[in-house]
Amino acid sequence: MFSNSVIRASSAITPARTRFAPSPTGYLHLGSLRTALFNYLLAKGTGGQFLLRIEDTDKKRTVEGAEEGIFDTLRWAGLQWDEGPLVGGEFGPYRQSERTELHRKHVDILLEEGHAYRCYCAPQRLEALALTRKHSGQSTDYDRHCLNSPPTASAAEPHVVRLKAPVQYPAYHDLVYGTITPGAQSHDHAIGAFEDPILLKSDGMPTYHLANVVDDHFMNITHVLRATEWMPSTPKHVHLYSCFGWKPPKFVHVGLLQDTQGKKLSKRTGDVFISEFREKGYLPEALNNFVALMGWSHAGESDILDIQKLVEQFSIDGLTTGNTKVEFGKLDYLQKQYARNRVMGGSGDKEILDAVEAQVRKRFGEKYLPYLQKLQISLFV
Ligand code: GLU
Repeated sequence: MFSNSVIRASSAITPARTRFAPSPTGYLHLGSLRTALFNYLLAKGTGGQFLLRIEDTDKKRTVEGAEEGIFDTLRWAGLQWDEGPLVGGEFGPYRQSERTELHRKHVDILLEEGHAYRCYCAPQRLEALALTRKHSGQSTDYDRHCLNSPPTASAAEPHVVRLKAPVQYPAYHDLVYGTITPGAQSHDHAIGAFEDPILLKSDGMPTYHLANVVDDHFMNITHVLRATEWMPSTPKHVHLYSCFGWKPPKFVHVGLLQDTQGKKLSKRTGDVFISEFREKGYLPEALNNFVALMGWSHAGESDILDIQKLVEQFSIDGLTTGNTKVEFGKLDYLQKQYARNRVMGGSGDKEILDAVEAQVRKRFGEKYLPYLQKLQISLFV
């Protein structure tokens, strides 16, 4: 049902400190629920902690109410975080925007040690540079005009801070994908094009790369488990860890969720947001079970795994490489099983009947409610 490939061996696990680190830029979708769930399972299954960190350094992309939506969705799914906003913890604050002092201090360390430099280039210059390079078919990367920052410039003038990217980022080990060796950038460097990603923006806010690394380090995160869309960032992160002289966490990347045509799962082909599944009456246990089976395979006989069983059985060894084609038939199958569990003596029978009542009211109107009594049980068995 789900596309997956080779099962990989990985190292034995001691208590893991994991984190789910969403940006409050919209609603949580199936992919984010799966990332949160895997992080939760890894922490709980190893007797560790599951953290929630809100990555809100990009104010322009922050959506009002998104943060509350994240809290609400995670709680609905039963993925209560051990440390994070609302619950606190020893390693807080857990909103990145409240940690900028720490981030800036670490940018200063990189500046002092020559791993980063201030760039005073005006946006117009950068745009013109990119345009000229694009026309001549070249990489649009930066030309290091400010590597040896102009003598007249001072830290008080508007600037960004850039990482001085090495010609070759170090190789790293991924617990799912094995050894990853990033390509050398010698060709681009030879023609004067340097990736040199921005670490600190002109508004004094850190970018994702810097804040993510500094916070993972100071929050003692042992495993960074996230989707492969973040893999291109990992070499930069590994490099930053080495600039600071820190031991990097273990990296665990999981493939993307796709529709049956192999395209990125999107609104075009069906529901993707957790709020939509909730509204339709899907049960959190069904949805958790559904996403857990995407990119993870288990040795057990049944695919019906409630959160307890998932905690017991989850292991990094079962994570599979490659993207996963999502087939919603499985969700309906799981929903039926869990709905039946709830009705047949489960503790949530009142809840499930209320949910059915709400659906009948919404779809067919008040007048059909009396039929519901007769139907109650037969709906689920
Ligand atoms: N803020 C990133 C996101 O929105 C976090 C990626 C990561 O886990 O490093 O998913």
